[in-house]
Amino acid sequence: MQVSVFMDVEDPINDLADDAARDVAEVFTKSGVRGSFCLTGEKCRTLLARGRQDVLDAYLPHCLGLHTNTHSYHPTTMELLADCNYEEGCQRALATETKGFDAFVAAFEKKPSFWGGAGNTWSCEIPWALSQLGIEAYSYALTATSETGVHKFNGCVALPQAISIGEDQWAAGYDLAETVLDYAAHFVGPWLGIFVGHPTRFRYQQFWDYGFANGVTPPTPQLADEQDEAVYQASLERLGSFLSDLKTQFKVVGVDEFLEQELAFREPTLQEREFFREQTAANLRSAKGWPIHRPDLDIENIVAKTLALEDTMRVLRTDS
Ligand SMILES: [Zn+2]
Repeated sequence: MQVSVFMDVEDPINDLADDAARDVAEVFTKSGVRGSFCLTGEKCRTLLARGRQDVLDAYLPHCLGLHTNTHSYHPTTMELLADCNYEEGCQRALATETKGFDAFVAAFEKKPSFWGGAGNTWSCEIPWALSQLGIEAYSYALTATSETGVHKFNGCVALPQAISIGEDQWAAGYDLAETVLDYAAHFVGPWLGIFVGHPTRFRYQQFWDYGFANGVTPPTPQLADEQDEAVYQASLERLGSFLSDLKTQFKVVGVDEFLEQELAFREPTLQEREFFREQTAANLRSAKGWPIHRPDLDIENIVAKTLALEDTMRVLRTDS
């Protein structure tokens, strides 16, 4: 089994977020683990504008993905794509993600290896747009063919997130990290994705985007409260211990290394099709509840557009 470890790097507002992004990347590098990091287009632009080449350099050894163009800025992915037909949605998705793609390439001089939804916000036009941009996979997949299975949907490889450790849990102690290691030891499948948080939430007590909740765009930046320095350092240390422990037990790879292998896909079974219809619809409806979304957001059109693409779904062969 192979394991990939994900983090999201997305805070363009708070002063210490850039340093935190660098600190966390260095924890991975020192542990000898290649992380899979999702960076927003806006984060790439602000790092470039602030001359933070040190932060960009810290990420170069790792697998890097695009985390939407502007994450929580309105309209989010679902807000943008809820009210249009599929063809119009494809053009909208391509237009916005091209901006993120260009910022990412300007920052790292290479294209993103994958794409991860912001707050899991997503619609079925995204994989079409990613194919146009030469990005072959999306993580945090809301599409599903089994509890944890890698699959293909609308031309892209879809990587589900099985398990996560939140920042407050890193701050509290190592217990959950041990639980996750135990979960991984009993996991059956070729690939497991583990999410371990956001550098900015290690450094601050709130998410950077709380001011964007309920569809609101704050007129001035709403800053977060700094985390206690000792708590921050302890969280980084625990993350480092987790990565070291993980590395001794599993083959930890970047998403790009997983994708480089000859992945073979097959037609889904009838049960997998049924699972897809039920679970994907449930996952989309759950993602609608992201606090950032406008309260009156209706995503049933996204559910319908997504389920209409059922025939594009393929399942990773595990016998090859
Ligand atoms: Zn995010």
